[in-house]
Amino acid sequence: MSNNFAIVNDTLMPEDKASLQVNDLVIQRGYGVFDFFRTINGKFIYLDEHLDRFFYSASKMRMDPGRSKEKVRELINELVSVNKFPDSAIRIMLTGGFADDGYTVTKPNLIITQRVFGMTTENDETGTTLASYEHQRQLPHIKTVDYIMMIWLRPFMNKKLVTDVLYHQDRIVTECPRSNIFIVTRDLRIVTPADNILKGITRKHVIDIAKKDFMVEEKNVTIEDVLYAKEAFITSTTRQIAPVLELDGTEIGNGILGDITRQLQNELIKSLLS
Ligand code: PLP
Repeated sequence: MSNNFAIVNDTLMPEDKASLQVNDLVIQRGYGVFDFFRTINGKFIYLDEHLDRFFYSASKMRMDPGRSKEKVRELINELVSVNKFPDSAIRIMLTGGFADDGYTVTKPNLIITQRVFGMTTENDETGTTLASYEHQRQLPHIKTVDYIMMIWLRPFMNKKLVTDVLYHQDRIVTECPRSNIFIVTRDLRIVTPADNILKGITRKHVIDIAKKDFMVEEKNVTIEDVLYAKEAFITSTTRQIAPVLELDGTEIGNGILGDITRQLQNELIKSLLS
């Protein structure tokens, strides 16, 4: 049992009392969107951008949030003031709504939850090891609740002894199930896929940071480009910047956290704490 509070449709309640009717389309069909962001020392990280993406996802899924961004922001503030978790992760979700016919989007339900989630100020050296997997996420630019493939692939990952997978289509890589990928080429350009991905908020900030010192390109990246890269890393709200140490059993670069990834980590951590 948790002591966290949650919000369901503008009402604050203990999280273990928060519930939805079983005929909600998110339960019946997995139809819903969400966004996920952090607070560090009580400060919201990139809240405007997450709210913008949440409303974008809702509109692309033809769902009416039923409230303004300002109202959702007020609700988030209300939740934060009750939970009092300075370092946390907040999830805002909009469901397809209660649908007796099982397919018509009705009045979406809004759910906001918060968890304690500490920030790492150390450089992430552990990073990730990847196995490539041919798959294209449905509606990739929308942050839907569909993470079926990621969960379904757990035994594949265990068999390959990796910590994550890298999706690709005809050897053109897109992203990992919960993060974006970047490579540092041997001539020191920073390249990240542009198409068929979720445009991560961390990705955007890392591009901005990297542009100060490097040439950054958003364009196709192949599996071979990753294997041949000097360094590679993933970005996400949860992982920040984590080095990719290995892909399909081949070490990337020296197989350890590289200097450029470290530099970008340092700058991102500095900006998150400022
Ligand atoms: N790509 C996918 C498919 C994701 O689910 C996520 C985050 O969950 C990301 C990329 C990274 O996005 P962000 O940096 O906004 O967390």
